[in-house]
Amino acid sequence: MIDQVGQDEVVVHDKTFVPYISPEEIDKRVKELGAAIVRDCGDKQPLFIVVLNGAFMFASDLIKEVPIDCQVTFTKLASYQGQKSTGVVREVAAIDIDVKDRTVIVVEDIVDTGNTLHHYLKDLKSRGAKEIKIASLLNKPEALQHSITIDYLGFKIDNKFVIGYGLDYDYKGRNFKGIYQLK
Ligand code: 5GP
Repeated sequence: MIDQVGQDEVVVHDKTFVPYISPEEIDKRVKELGAAIVRDCGDKQPLFIVVLNGAFMFASDLIKEVPIDCQVTFTKLASYQGQKSTGVVREVAAIDIDVKDRTVIVVEDIVDTGNTLHHYLKDLKSRGAKEIKIASLLNKPEALQHSITIDYLGFKIDNKFVIGYGLDYDYKGRNFKGIYQLK
């Protein structure tokens, strides 16, 4: 069993990670993001689309902070690196609700290169979404390759691999309460 409490480092598979963002910092920021969504979208009956797998914990905490009339669904996206430098993204678990004329809030764990969202946003626009907003727990500005505006961003982080709070390294680390960075 992995003991996270008071631990400086944690070894996951073959790599060592160090504490980076504490559960308390996450909790505070998630509450702020929730309040901002209520303020902006309180009367818009937004549709949250949670991008699995990594966003499950963030989405769970965030949406609890948004006590408004809203709907929630889930998608799973897969990107394929073809011959071209940009990958193509498709929904492997399609959402089961029409986005036409809706205010959509896409909930992501992390925007890294931005490739996944770049393609998915185009897809949602082509399906007639009226307004698309993005909520992401993390963003690595140095890695970003597309012009993407994150409306509700938790934290900007260094361009280093992180795990915890839903994010994994080969399926481990998702249950950590804080975010850990590769040492
Ligand atoms: P992007 O398309 O923006 O490059 O990255 C999309 C996905 O890559 C994220 O939703 C996430 O699943 C994964 N990813 C990117 N950076 C990290 C990271 O530092 N740690 C983990 N665990 N996943 C990451």
